[in-house]
Amino acid sequence: MTMDTQKLLRALPKTDELLRRDDLSALAVTVPRAVVTDAVRDAVDSVREAILSGEAPAFDADSIANDAIARATDRMLPSLRPVINATGIIVHTNLGRSRLSEDALRAVVEVAGNYSTLEYDVATGERGSRHAHVERLICELTGAEAAMAVNNNAAAVLLAIAGLAARKEAIVSRGQQVEIGGSFRIPDVMRQSGAKMVEVGATNKTHLADYENAITPKTGLLLKVHSSNFRVVGFTETVSLEDLVALGAKHAVPVYEDQGSGVLIDLAPYGLPDEPTVRSSIEAGVDVVSVSGDKLLGGPQAGILAGKKAVIDRLKKHPLARALRLDKMTLAALEATLRLYLDPARALREIPTLRMLTETPECVATRALKLVDDIIAATGDAMWVAAMPDVSRAGGGALPLADIPTTIVTMSPRTMSANDLESALRLGNPTIVARIRDGRVVLDPRTLAPHEADLVVARLAEIASGE
Ligand SMILES: *Cc1c(COP(=O)(O)O)cnc(C)c1O
Repeated sequence: MTMDTQKLLRALPKTDELLRRDDLSALAVTVPRAVVTDAVRDAVDSVREAILSGEAPAFDADSIANDAIARATDRMLPSLRPVINATGIIVHTNLGRSRLSEDALRAVVEVAGNYSTLEYDVATGERGSRHAHVERLICELTGAEAAMAVNNNAAAVLLAIAGLAARKEAIVSRGQQVEIGGSFRIPDVMRQSGAKMVEVGATNKTHLADYENAITPKTGLLLKVHSSNFRVVGFTETVSLEDLVALGAKHAVPVYEDQGSGVLIDLAPYGLPDEPTVRSSIEAGVDVVSVSGDKLLGGPQAGILAGKKAVIDRLKKHPLARALRLDKMTLAALEATLRLYLDPARALREIPTLRMLTETPECVATRALKLVDDIIAATGDAMWVAAMPDVSRAGGGALPLADIPTTIVTMSPRTMSANDLESALRLGNPTIVARIRDGRVVLDPRTLAPHEADLVVARLAEIASGE
């Protein structure tokens, strides 16, 4: 060890001394003492390692204390925390899919902070059913006889197939061997459910006769999986739900449709592609249909099963139903979200996913132009800023072909790369998720609430001033 190294090591401040500093004692009021102590040790250690590896780092007690404060603050930052979604992808699975309505948020807080009617029947003073909170609403909104909700739609698929076709055969078209993402594949779920999958037809075409020829005494289920996250186009043919229902009735085999997206009101009048609603499947006579709660429905993560009373009653009693059941916070959010649908105009206004999906291109354009002005006012000549037409996406494996017209804001910083600007937005506080395209950073106001647009502008001002 050289003399210099020894001198530097001796100059390192002691942990105890550092902890007595005003700034670090003040931090210990809000941050647990053990976290502050660890952060101070880590800050000193990192300088010590630099010295031992032969560097000659510049340091003093202030710089080490600042590093410790940064480390301690970072450790207290929640890992699961809000971000600002400027991508224009509305149901962004990695960013938590749907944000909840004000009503749903209030319901979660009320139920989570108090004892509740979760499984308590106020009228009789006896044990109630947790399904009761959403069943009537789902039935009213879809025309189903009975309904229940589980942890997510993947759980609904597992429960429906296990409940109706375990140790039997389930017939599904080769064109519907869907992978939903995160390696969730229909054939794998079937295997877990104990049903034997019988594939019929070809990838692009399946005929009613393909199903009929596959029916045997062992058949327990006819399964239709909605291609919610892809489209087979061109020379294609699928069997309609009505025809499948008629075939099921003829052979006394139940029909289950995994519909995916969860559309409760017709979105076609708002320029979005025709997606089947849950009601349309119930009206077609399906025995049971399942959808996600947090895709186009705009509620919390959940899987909704709706259909014939005898089938739903059977699924409610299945042992898996207990393992897959919903938590009270989710139930509260789901009930509040569903209640908004009783007035469709209100649902479109107050459920963020529906509001963002149906905001007119003119409104988004107005917000984009304001964002451009605000960014220029806040950042001076630090970047070229422009508005231009583009498309937003529904995301979340929903409405895959829908181009939702939008106006984006593009930024080309003059003194840094687009990649550096994108990462500065992502790594700062708040976390802002933007896209890069053609060497520019892109913001889509469609997924930005007005107060979030202001936060983005404030953060861009910081970045432009070199913070
Ligand atoms: C999204 C989707 C699922 C999975 O739903 P989760 O709620 O994410 O579990 C299953 N089937 C289809 C057709 C889907 O689109």
